[in-house]
Amino acid sequence: MGMPGGFLKYERRCAKYRPVKERLTDYREVEVYPPEDEVVNQSLRCLDCGIPFCHSTGCSLSILIPEINELVHGGRWREAYERLSSVNPFPEITGRICPALCEASCTLSINDAPVTIRNIEYTVIEKAFENGWVQPRKIKRRAGKKAAVIGSGPAGLAAASKLSGRGFDVTVYEKAPAAGGILRYGIPDFKLEKWVIDRRLDIMKKEGVKFETGIRIGKDVSASYMQKNYDNIIITTGALHPRDIRIPGREYDGIYFAMEYLSSSNEYVCGSSENLEIDAS
Ligand SMILES: Cc1cc2nc3c(=O)[nH]c(=O)nc-3n(C[C@H](O)[C@H](O)[C@H](O)COP(=O)(O)OP(=O)(O)OC[C@H]3O[C@@H](n4cnc5c(N)ncnc54)[C@H](O)[C@@H]3O)c2cc1C
Repeated sequence: MGMPGGFLKYERRCAKYRPVKERLTDYREVEVYPPEDEVVNQSLRCLDCGIPFCHSTGCSLSILIPEINELVHGGRWREAYERLSSVNPFPEITGRICPALCEASCTLSINDAPVTIRNIEYTVIEKAFENGWVQPRKIKRRAGKKAAVIGSGPAGLAAASKLSGRGFDVTVYEKAPAAGGILRYGIPDFKLEKWVIDRRLDIMKKEGVKFETGIRIGKDVSASYMQKNYDNIIITTGALHPRDIRIPGREYDGIYFAMEYLSSSNEYVCGSSENLEIDAS
């Protein structure tokens, strides 16, 4: 443990938002992350408690949070990155948009504010990108097997990354024009700018993962073709059907499902569509 009682010395300080006046003029990410020395101070707030609920129950990826905090306050950023990416294929995504149940489970939050785990994760991964530590892996052993992943949301991308690391020859099929699933077509740029996804896709492509976009499996390509041509098929097609609500007034104009609005506004913001189909302003 780096500093017993670090939480008494340092208060929780997390990312701030850009001023509203500025945010009104663009669609860019709104969070402004704290500088590196502040992030180190924040990592010193970790209690390194006996049962780290953040890691054991809070995080669905079981990220080794107390160990990463220890490495961060020791200035061992590269090791922190390696520890983080050993269980999380896309920390730059979770570091931005994860609801951070780890923070809700932080022991310190029993009677104080929790450690800023998500911000620390963000800083570790962005520092790794800055320093060129995030590189396509050199796959030493090829499995001699072909795998198809249907759907390129976070589940499909994570499966593709894992299989590629195990030496599979992976092709990801996506019905939309670009890969990313809800990361690209649902979550607005103010939380996750799309270059963040593209940066990761480039690394995956350099590693050998192939992406076939604009192809709907089951319509453009048959299931029997897939079965003949691949040793393994992973279906990660998400939950596409919105849940309607039956309440008085539901039939009024101007009521849309979230994804109807978000997909069209995301396409507008990234420039692939010239008009906003639904203008909420
Ligand atoms: C509006 C919105 C905001 C959200 N915000 C957050 C957030 O801030 N933080 C967070 O942690 N989670 C958030 N979520 C939840 C998160 O986005 C989802 O849990 C996650 O995207 C699910 O991943 P997935 O890969 O299973 O599915 P998806 O992301 O839905 O991806 C499935 C992909 O499969 C493709 N596909 C479907 N059928 C076929 C086919 N036949 N052939 C080829 N491709 C096909 C689809 O086009 C899609 O690209 C949000 C969800 C929504 C809807």
